[in-house]
Amino acid sequence: MEAGYQVIARRWRPKQFDELVGQDYIVRTLKNAISGKRIAHAYMLVGPRGTGKTSTARLFAKALNCEQGPTVTPCNQCPSCEEITAGNSLDVIEIDGASNNSVEQVRELREDCQYAPTRGRYKIYIIDEVHMLSNAAFNALLKTLEEPPSHVIFIFATTEARKVLATIVSRCQRFAFRPIADSVIAEKLSSIAQTENISVEDEALQTIARLANGGMRDAQSILDQMISFCGDAIKEQDVLDVYGLAPPKVVESLLKAVAAADYNKIIDHVEELDREGRDLYRALLDLQDLTRQALLEAVRQNGSTSSLGRPLRAEELMRMLEALRDKEHSVKMGLSEKVNFEVALLSAVEASRARAIDSLIREISGLAKELPEPEGSPKKKVAQAEPSANPEPSSYNQPQSKEEEEKEKDTEQPTEQEIVNESIAEELMVEEPPLSSSAAASAPSTSNEELVLPETQPELESLVAKIPQSTKKFIEEQLRGHFREVQKIDTAKLI
Ligand SMILES: [Zn+2]
Repeated sequence: MEAGYQVIARRWRPKQFDELVGQDYIVRTLKNAISGKRIAHAYMLVGPRGTGKTSTARLFAKALNCEQGPTVTPCNQCPSCEEITAGNSLDVIEIDGASNNSVEQVRELREDCQYAPTRGRYKIYIIDEVHMLSNAAFNALLKTLEEPPSHVIFIFATTEARKVLATIVSRCQRFAFRPIADSVIAEKLSSIAQTENISVEDEALQTIARLANGGMRDAQSILDQMISFCGDAIKEQDVLDVYGLAPPKVVESLLKAVAAADYNKIIDHVEELDREGRDLYRALLDLQDLTRQALLEAVRQNGSTSSLGRPLRAEELMRMLEALRDKEHSVKMGLSEKVNFEVALLSAVEASRARAIDSLIREISGLAKELPEPEGSPKKKVAQAEPSANPEPSSYNQPQSKEEEEKEKDTEQPTEQEIVNESIAEELMVEEPPLSSSAAASAPSTSNEELVLPETQPELESLVAKIPQSTKKFIEEQLRGHFREVQKIDTAKLI
């Protein structure tokens, strides 16, 4: 590396709007503003670091003050363009809001902006990290913003727009810079590497892009560092080793182990990652990413996917993802990264196994649908009866008379468990067709005639008496419920 080496991020700073990647709508709006001569007096550029805010501000300044301009394609050769590139233009003043945040400094700025520009058309103030200004400084700035001299343009940049006074924001045209997509970053890095005669594996480019979290500058800095480490050939394994990342194959295998509740494998993988000094927090983020992909796949494929080795429903994946996210903070900030990482994985296993009440009810309903389907019967509610005096299933093998039921009903109170079972069974009955016809053979009194919604208690009871033994047995076995008494259901309360 010879003296005067300039890092990639600086050498590849965009010199034209078309080189500004990943922020298409901002580029289009600014270009239109320049060519339509509709230049505002204040702009607010908001977005995560490294997404192109400062580059955009400088490019915009160049476009306005270029000797050939205002133009959407600054020449980059005239004195004005060159001064702005070098950062020593008298008309384009860059201020770091973090270190120049006092009210006195803003007052100086107010004085200064009264003077006409020396060379260009506009005097442009680029204030970076503007949210760091003190409240008094903001208020001092506000006066200038309300009635700026016609030659003055403010460009504010911030990563935290919420900290900027609303009265300031409302006087600016606001541009939201988005994190740049991994694929766009990888593509840009690839073209940089090609120009610099460096061969980089595609997987390595993907990994760098993922590491950069949507920031082009970060991605370029990482590429710089990898060139220093590897020379002119960069492999994925090099990037994983230098940044302590878990190999994607291990992350995938780990997540499959979580889905399969394979505790031994989970512990082995964690040991391996820890031994190799991998960044477990980063691995947790990668696991989340993979879970999210599976979740999206499940949503697209009617609610279930097998991409993690076993069929998983969207809701299970959602709970896994929540468990992994829940532990994010403790893995990052906790005392033992490894222990907290293990806890995160184990709670993800638990979460994927837990079942929501609603899914359980759906499942039970599904089971009940396997019951014999009656022919030509309208939907109808049937309440259930159960002789609670004798909970032995064998007792239901004998047909029971109405009198017996009545008698037994009075002799014993239901236990809590029975009540719960009843209510589940009640829900179940709502969706179920009447339980009668195919069992007609075993229930002598049942005929194939249509059943109508019973109005009176005796009618109900006689209907229940017709429920065949096979059906009763099925419900007992599948729901662990018992026929206890006949009750009319208030249809208004049914879901
Ligand atoms: Zn120029």
